[in-house]
Amino acid sequence: MELMKGAHVIESYATTTLLIDDRLVLIDTSADADAHPDHVGGLASIKKNSPARVAAHRIEADFISRKKTWDGPPGPQRHTPTPVDVSLDDGQIHDGLRVIFTPGHTRGSMSLLDETRSLLIAGDAANNESGLRPMDDQYNIDPKQHRQSIKKLATLHFDNAIFGHGEPIKGDASAKFADLAKRV
Ligand SMILES: [Zn+2]
Repeated sequence: MELMKGAHVIESYATTTLLIDDRLVLIDTSADADAHPDHVGGLASIKKNSPARVAAHRIEADFISRKKTWDGPPGPQRHTPTPVDVSLDDGQIHDGLRVIFTPGHTRGSMSLLDETRSLLIAGDAANNESGLRPMDDQYNIDPKQHRQSIKKLATLHFDNAIFGHGEPIKGDASAKFADLAKRV
């Protein structure tokens, strides 16, 4: 569905976001039916079949290329090793999106802020499956850090938010994060 002009949300086992402006940005290549670790399921085939350049937080890059073995929940990765072209870091602006390092669910989790749309693409920094809440701790590599990341997001202003899991929020999204940050 088109959440707002040029921002499409594609729901599969995890949410893929497609931003269409003067460039095309696809965020989150989703998961296999039975495996989340961690939303890179479609990456190899997208990379093979398109001129896409792959960007990820620098901590996650070695897990995506599988130079490092994934040791986080909920178990081993099975995706085809895929090299990362662009390593991202906290605060950096890449393709018009601000990188916000939000570790805790995984070591290299990040969220992206599209300031032109006042849109946070949260990834798995929180989920909105039955209201806004943290991810289940059985899936977080560091539950405490995960909550710190929610608090960090609550300091930002954005009207809208998209999640790896759960419904997008349209309007007043950062107020909902501020509420959540008080409870975690
Ligand atoms: Zn997930």
